Amino acid sequence: MDNISLDARLSSVIRAPRLLVISDFDGTIADFADDPENVPVNRDSIAALEALGALPDTGAAILSGRDLATLRRLSGAGDRVELVGSHGAESTGDPVEPTDGQRRLLDAVGERLNDLIAGHPGAAVESKPFHRVLHTRRVADRALGDRLLDEARQLRPEGLHVSTGKCIVEFSAVSVNKGTWIAEVRKRGGWDAVVFLGDDVTDEDGFRVLGTGDLGIKVGDGDTAAVGRVADTDGVQTVLERLVTARAAHLKG
Ligand SMILES: [Mg+2]
Repeated sequence: MDNISLDARLSSVIRAPRLLVISDFDGTIADFADDPENVPVNRDSIAALEALGALPDTGAAILSGRDLATLRRLSGAGDRVELVGSHGAESTGDPVEPTDGQRRLLDAVGERLNDLIAGHPGAAVESKPFHRVLHTRRVADRALGDRLLDEARQLRPEGLHVSTGKCIVEFSAVSVNKGTWIAEVRKRGGWDAVVFLGDDVTDEDGFRVLGTGDLGIKVGDGDTAAVGRVADTDGVQTVLERLVTARAAHLKG
C-alpha cells in the first residue's frame, strides 16, 4: 500500500464512534536484540498508545506472545493501555491459570525440547503459563537453528497447538490466538473499528479477523493479510502518533 492510501484509511478509521488500537510488541513497538530481556523499546510509541487510551471512546492495547508479567515489565505502559500476553491467553482484564492437565502437557513437551537443544548453545526453551517455546535466534549456525525448529515441529505433542514465528516454535495449551482475542474483545467492548499493527506470522491470525472498517498494518516485508504496511518500528511510531492527533482533533469536532 502506498502512503496515500494508508493516510486515507487512517483518516477514515479515526471517525469510528468507538475505536480500539492494538499493537504487537516485539518487532512492532520494540526492536529485536540478542537478549530478549533487554530489547530497545520505542517509548514514543508507548506514549502514543497511552495518549490514545486516555481519549474518550478510544481504547489501546498491546497484544503480545510474551507472558503478561514480562510484557508489563518491558513495556512499562501505564494502565490506560490494556496489556495482553501469551497471544491473548493472559489479559490484565481477565486473569486465568492453566489447569493441572495443561501444566502436565506443557512440562512434558518442555522436557523434550530441553533434550532437543542439549549441546546447542544459543537455543533456549521459554516457559510461559500456557506455552513452551523453542527460540533459535541466538544459534550462530542458521542451518542448525532451522533444523532444531523442524525437529521441534515434528514432536507433535498430543493436546497442544503448535505455531511458528520468527526463529521460534511454540506449543500452546490453549486454542486462543491473536485473532480469537481480537474478535472477542471487539464484541465485549463494543468497538466499531479496530486498528492492529504487527510484524510476525502469529499477527496474521489478527489481520484475518479484521473487517472492511478496520485497519491492519503489517510491519516489514513478507506476505500478509493486512491492507496496510510500514517498514519498521519507526513507521509504527509515525502511525500511532498520527492516530493520536487525528483522533483527538476528530473528537473535539
Ligand atoms: Mg512481533
